[in-house]
Amino acid sequence: MRVDIVTIFPEYLSPLDLSLIGRARAAGQLHITVHDLRRWTHDVHRTVDDTPYGGGPGMVMRPEPWGAALDALVPAEQPAERPAEPPPEPPAEPPPGPSRVIVPTPAGSPFTQAMAHELAAEDHLVFACGRYEGIDQRVFDHAAARANVSEISIGDYVLFGGEVAVLVILETVSRLLPGVLGNADSLVEESHADGLLETPVYTKPATWRGLDVPEVLRSGDHARIARWRRDQALLRTAVRRPDLLAALPPDTLDKRDVAVLTGGGFPVPGADMAK
Ligand code: SAM
Repeated sequence: MRVDIVTIFPEYLSPLDLSLIGRARAAGQLHITVHDLRRWTHDVHRTVDDTPYGGGPGMVMRPEPWGAALDALVPAEQPAERPAEPPPEPPAEPPPGPSRVIVPTPAGSPFTQAMAHELAAEDHLVFACGRYEGIDQRVFDHAAARANVSEISIGDYVLFGGEVAVLVILETVSRLLPGVLGNADSLVEESHADGLLETPVYTKPATWRGLDVPEVLRSGDHARIARWRRDQALLRTAVRRPDLLAALPPDTLDKRDVAVLTGGGFPVPGADMAK
């Protein structure tokens, strides 16, 4: 996957050299380039912002440098579909596929694991990191004519800028790329993979500060362990994220699931539809 990130603070993205993302870059699975937006300014002060039309506090990012940046990074002629896989020798630059422009903004659609899967299937992501009161809207209205533009929020709170949001989105997406995570099975059992939160996890020692690891996890009985984990995931989700439980398709729960939830004090509407 090719990734271009445009920001006025390129150093903010330095964590992308670390850990598994850094390793994926070195292995050629992820080709990330960070661009300084000021490269596309032409005045002596390298200005990127101005006062808002209509008045109000703060500054707005001007359209000219952003327009020039997207012109340079999003080809005017977009390939209709994903090109053939690049040759295996890393770190060869993959051929450009269709581009997806991501605009982090607290006014965007909420970022979810499902959205991360969607982005992980793209060939080319271009992130536009806003600052101040955001970027002139015409930049994205214009770019939408030649690329898929998504305005995405990482949560209902306001950051100083889009850089941290890009780190969040990119870390989530890169975990889903083939070969990036050491053990791909981790993706199957974790929170949000099946609409439930993950069960509590434990490691050695079996007793620590007077607290024991649940007996079932030490029993070696895989069927019992699987059932216990399912029960814990259901109850934890019911307590912490009832919205997730309510969003599960009714046929996802079997009769035992319904009994566990009801027994835990969480009646399940439409329980008679359980398998
Ligand atoms: N005036 C904007 C509003 O009320 O929607 C907030 C601008 S914020 C101070 C500056 C930049 O931070 C935004 O353009 C965006 O890039 C980023 N940002 C802030 N909060 C965010 C969030 N929850 N999710 C994604 N990006 C965010």
